[in-house]
Amino acid sequence: MRIIAIMNQKGGVGKTTSSVNMAAGLAMQGKKVCLVDLDPQGHASLHLGIEPMGNVPTAYDVFSGFKTLAETRQLVAKNLWVVPATLDLAATELELVDAENREIVLREAIKKMAETEPFDYLIMDCPPSLGVLTVNALTAATEVIIPLQPHFFALQGLSKLLETTALVRRRLNRNLKVSGVVLCLYETGTRLAADVTDDLCAFLGESDPEAPWADAKVFQSRIRRNIKLAEAPSYGQSVFDYSSSCPGAKDYAGLVEEIIAGEQAEESPLQQAA
Ligand code: ADP
Ligand code: MG
Repeated sequence: MRIIAIMNQKGGVGKTTSSVNMAAGLAMQGKKVCLVDLDPQGHASLHLGIEPMGNVPTAYDVFSGFKTLAETRQLVAKNLWVVPATLDLAATELELVDAENREIVLREAIKKMAETEPFDYLIMDCPPSLGVLTVNALTAATEVIIPLQPHFFALQGLSKLLETTALVRRRLNRNLKVSGVVLCLYETGTRLAADVTDDLCAFLGESDPEAPWADAKVFQSRIRRNIKLAEAPSYGQSVFDYSSSCPGAKDYAGLVEEIIAGEQAEESPLQQAA
């Protein structure tokens, strides 16, 4: 199972849009996918048409220890389950402050689910902060994908974020790695986007071989700015269901292909050893 944290402490960079459409695209390719909404704003849940009300179990119940992931997830499309979030989840940050093992709650929950029902992919849509929810995601993850909007300050925020992955790798999750950066809200043909992309590639190319991002790549698929991607959430649909041939659907389909291609890259060293 690949456990992917979609993370950037900046808001509005395309985390939720990428989490939802990657998850939907992978499910359409026959992968069994669970999307865990870790943002108290619940945008990923809403994007896929879930408006949790009343006693519907959510991610909050998983962090509180009242429910398992299996009891919380909802089937929203073929091969695609969502663990929804509501504003309740904001309380988790506070409630876990003094809890022992507060960083590993989600990892334990995922381990438990995987014992009885394996998924191919578990994708976590992180909130725009580096608080306890994001740390839980990083502790549980096998890899991190960072959506980045190419503008002047993007690389500054990136180093803070990468430091956090290094810290979590040292203390909590030795296997954590950053597999890639996906450029979102990309303005094709602008000088700025091209410059930031070059700087980013140079920065990643020079990284310390011991760093979690040593093998990180910039995905070839750039997610262009496309209004259909912004419209799809209000219909409770992934971009593939909302407008299957728009540029946004094409870009995310390309990204999904690259992610699936990464499966072989991950398996090959083992297969060679076998
Ligand atoms: P985050 O989760 O990082 O806060 P979102 O994925 O919610 O970011 O994106 C922020 C806003 O931008 C949302 O309204 C979303 O619909 C819109 N958006 C995201 N990606 C694109 C894109 N490629 N083209 C147009 N709008 C986009
Ligand atoms: Mg979001």
